[in-house]
Amino acid sequence: MADYKIFTRDGTCEANTYFVVFGPEVLVIDASNRFDRSMIPEGTVKAVLLTHGHFDHILTAEDYVKKFSCPIYVSKEELSCFTDPELNVSACFGFATILHVEAKTWDSNTITSEELGFSEPGLFTVKVIPTPGHSEGSVCFLLDIGGEKMLFTGDTLFRGTVGRIDLPGGSAKKMQESIKLLSQMDDDLLCFPGHGEPTTIGQEKQYNLYFGDISVDGRVVEI
Ligand SMILES: [Zn+2]
Repeated sequence: MADYKIFTRDGTCEANTYFVVFGPEVLVIDASNRFDRSMIPEGTVKAVLLTHGHFDHILTAEDYVKKFSCPIYVSKEELSCFTDPELNVSACFGFATILHVEAKTWDSNTITSEELGFSEPGLFTVKVIPTPGHSEGSVCFLLDIGGEKMLFTGDTLFRGTVGRIDLPGGSAKKMQESIKLLSQMDDDLLCFPGHGEPTTIGQEKQYNLYFGDISVDGRVVEI
């Protein structure tokens, strides 16, 4: 299996930026920290994946593009967040985040490391799991590194709770369905939330009230 490390930096609104480091090449998940080259692990950022388009998760995406000429990926429902302070919620905080870069969206729900520009073939895959509820186009990324899997949950799932549903594009019903979906995943699946500490699906099933009384008749994800 590939040798890799995961670093976290928390930034604006204490949102996490994750750096998955494969030797000299780096995958970034969410772009929330103030962009400071010294905070970025050694290596070249090959791609930035965004779990959703809220300002505290996209704020520095433009800096990665400028510094590393890397692509940014976000779901198509969130593309307009780049230029709409109401949708990216910065307006609620009294300022206007607008990005001047183009983002890509994925063609299929599995993205390979080759597609993201990594040099070693078969290094990892990323399965995109739509989990609307916090926002219309919120997703979780299931990273599979040679069979070792971990889930980046954005603002869908936090340790002990779930993301807000009262922001533009939010939906209690969709959040419930998304949590039902996540509850079907392996208990020992490691989860890296958009804010706060890591957790596992099993831990959330045990302690997270939003996982209570969920019957497993929803969508099923093959992992
Ligand atoms: Zn958010």
